[in-house]
Amino acid sequence: MRRTIIAGNWKLNKTTDEAVRFALELKQRVGSVTHCDVIVAPAFVALGEVYRAVKGTSIRVAGQNLFWEASGAYTGEISAPMLRSVGCDHVIVGHSERRQYFGESDETVNKRIKAALQHGLTPIFCVGETLEERESNRTFDVLTRQVVAGLEGIPAGRVAGIVVAYEPVWAIGTGRTATREQAQEAHAFLRALLAEQRGDHVAASCRILYGGSVKPGNVDGLMAQPDIDGALVGGASLDAASFARIVNYGPHASLAG
Ligand code: PEP
Repeated sequence: MRRTIIAGNWKLNKTTDEAVRFALELKQRVGSVTHCDVIVAPAFVALGEVYRAVKGTSIRVAGQNLFWEASGAYTGEISAPMLRSVGCDHVIVGHSERRQYFGESDETVNKRIKAALQHGLTPIFCVGETLEERESNRTFDVLTRQVVAGLEGIPAGRVAGIVVAYEPVWAIGTGRTATREQAQEAHAFLRALLAEQRGDHVAASCRILYGGSVKPGNVDGLMAQPDIDGALVGGASLDAASFARIVNYGPHASLAG
């Protein structure tokens, strides 16, 4: 049984005061859900206060990125121990915006995943193809390259605890969601790849989230797919009612408030 995760990536949004107010609203709406793990990823500066605002509820806190060294002369970076010290237990790694705008490569993603695991953070490892790659039938090649390189040198026992997020780049922030069939196809491919790379047990335990314009109106269909274990939500996670409805997907919808 893979426990569902619904994670909200707040990206470069909300000052600390705004983030805390928003976290308190989420606490009211989804702070006591038991059917899934709820994770929010505020900006670095708001992490500690958001953690304090939701402490003791079902809501967990994640960093949006991390650097691989624990400390040292790396101006502007944030390390895994620093994220742990403000209450994070998860961290997003290799988000397509990091790959696209900040020169993130498969190799640096791999270093970040290793650093996260070494310091007790669960990485949410993002992979996904661009529109051009999809249209030239390279989706599976790209996913294979990203997964193989991103997990390089990480033993099966550790990979089982990693969360993978399939986020087709063409669906992020565009309002253009992958159909449930497209998403399921990619998730099934990723699970088979994990089985081939690290064994059936790892593939069966690893949670694979879908990300890319998930909204209240499409979450139920996506979550009904057998290989979709949750969602990584950008835009819709910035609205409390929308995020609450996504958390309370499908059979849990009557609980949405
Ligand atoms: C994301 O940034 O991970 C994301 C999926 O964004 P959106 O939901 O806005 O497409």
